[in-house]
Amino acid sequence: MAERKARRGADRGTLRTPGRDDRGWGGAAEAGRGADEPRAPHHESLGSRLNWLRAGVLGANDGIVSTAGLVVGVAGATASGSAVLVAGVAGMFSGALSMAAGEYVSVGTQRDTERAALARERRELEEDPEAELEELAGMYRERGLDADLAHRVAEQLTARDALRAHAEVELKLDSDELTDPWQAALASFLSFIVGALVPLLLITLSPGGWRVPVTVAAVAGAVAVTGAVSARLGGADPRRAALRSVVGGLLAMAVTFGIGTAVGGATGV
Ligand SMILES: [Zn+2]
Repeated sequence: MAERKARRGADRGTLRTPGRDDRGWGGAAEAGRGADEPRAPHHESLGSRLNWLRAGVLGANDGIVSTAGLVVGVAGATASGSAVLVAGVAGMFSGALSMAAGEYVSVGTQRDTERAALARERRELEEDPEAELEELAGMYRERGLDADLAHRVAEQLTARDALRAHAEVELKLDSDELTDPWQAALASFLSFIVGALVPLLLITLSPGGWRVPVTVAAVAGAVAVTGAVSARLGGADPRRAALRSVVGGLLAMAVTFGIGTAVGGATGV
C-alpha cells in the first residue's frame, strides 16, 4: 500500500511536467515582453516526452492489475459470463475515473501553488525592480559567476523577460511547463482504460473453463511488458522490474480469486 502510494506520487511528479498552460503565463507577456513580441516556439523536451510515456505505462499497469483482480475474483464466485463482464466494465470505468480525479486534484493543487508563487514574484518585480535585479544577480553569483558577469546576466535576462528569469532561477519553475490538470486527468483516464481492456477482453472472449487461466497468463505477460518498459524508461533494470510486476499481478489475482471463490461459495451466487 505504501509502495503504491509512493509510486502514485512519483507518477504525479512525472505527469505534471509536459502539461503546458499558456494561461498561466499571461502575466509573463505583460511583465517582460512587448505586446508585439511573439512567444518563443515551445519544443517539448525529450525528457518530458519520456515522462509522459512512463506515466502512461504505469497508468496502464494499474488498469491491467486492478481490473484483472476484479474479473478473476468475480469469475471465482460465479460461472456467469455476464456478471464478470458487468463487474469488469464497471471496475474499468470506476478505476479510470478515480485515477483521473486524483490526478486532476493533485496537479490542480500544484498548479495553484505555482501560480501563487508566480503572482508573488510578479508583484515583487513591479514594486521593487531594483531589489529584484540585485536578487537575481546574487543568485548567479551563488552559482559561481563573478560579480560583474552575474550583474550583466541578470540585466540581460531581466530586459528579456524578468518574470521568466526569476521563475527559473528562484522558483525552479520551467516557464513552459506549467501543469495542466485536465491534460493529466485525461492521460490517466485513457492509460488506465487501455490497460483494463487486456483482462476484460480476455476473460470475456475466452471459452468457459479457460477464461481464468488464459486471463492470468496474459495478464502476467502484459505486466511483465509494462514493468520492463517503465523500468527501461527510468533507466532501471528491466528484468527485475518485469519479475516484480509479474509477482505482484499474480498475487493480486490469486488473492481476489480466493476471496471471490470463498464469497461465492458462502453466498451461493
Ligand atoms: Zn525574484
